Amino acid sequence: MDLGIKGKRALVCASSKGLGRGCAEALAEAGVDLVLNARGAEALEETAQAIRETHGVEVTAVAADITTEEGRAQVLAASGEVDILVTNAGGPPPGLWSDWDREDFIKALDANMLTPIALMTALMPAMIEKGWGRVVNITSQSVKAPIPALGLSNAARTGLTGFVAGTARQVASKGVNINNLLPGSHATDRATALESAVSKAQGVSMDEAHSIRLQTIPSGRYGTIEEFGAMCAFLCSQHAGFIVGQNILLDGGQTNATI
Ligand code: NAP
Repeated sequence: MDLGIKGKRALVCASSKGLGRGCAEALAEAGVDLVLNARGAEALEETAQAIRETHGVEVTAVAADITTEEGRAQVLAASGEVDILVTNAGGPPPGLWSDWDREDFIKALDANMLTPIALMTALMPAMIEKGWGRVVNITSQSVKAPIPALGLSNAARTGLTGFVAGTARQVASKGVNINNLLPGSHATDRATALESAVSKAQGVSMDEAHSIRLQTIPSGRYGTIEEFGAMCAFLCSQHAGFIVGQNILLDGGQTNATI
């Protein structure tokens, strides 16, 4: 399927690895020029070069922490106007409800709610001006069903989801579509880090922690970054113009709900 976005320009945040990289690769395959971002310069440059070589698109790499004001300023200066924005950042640490103080919440809100909002606020006016834009926020299945050990994530991402629900309906008539993509369990470094936390907390091996989690996924496996990226690219495509303010779950059936 031709996604109809060849020659568009996208900012994909937190994209040297994992789900962000999956989105960047799929957009590049559709002919989209990219601005990529991550904190670690080395992995970021390797990813940027691999995408240039494979897909022949223009790739600008900006090593910066997207959750800080300075980092965002650097990324936005290098991006200029973009047609597509994919927001993403690392997820908050796991723990117990009684572990967290105000500072922990502020950090999580900054990373997983206020950063995507700041990026949308900065980049959507130009999309509205042009009459076309796509925003995909990478959130989590925790928005549909809470993950008890990820209270910081549950809180921050639900806040972002509320903001998107209202805002998506305000900008839809301008040709700008905002949607959220909700990963379940995907085979990335983040999944390994969470398994490591389970392994320590429950006194089980990493293999056992992995198989405990697999048993909760009807598909019987983890998702891939390629599957995730393909859905992101579709949401950024010309075909997705009637999809507004949706929360699309990619979780192999793990969230046990009728709707
Ligand atoms: P990952 O494999 O650990 O990759 C994270 C990517 O983001 C890396 O490129 C990392 O590079 C970059 N990054 C992290 N913090 C950043 C920051 N502050 N500024 C700029 N770049 C940053 O993680 P992932 O699995 O792709 O997860 C992506 C998001 O989805 C996270 O918020 C995660 O909580 C959420 N999620 C993931 C899953 C899953 O199963 N994988 C499930 C639900 C939700 P640097 O470290 O070099 O910055």
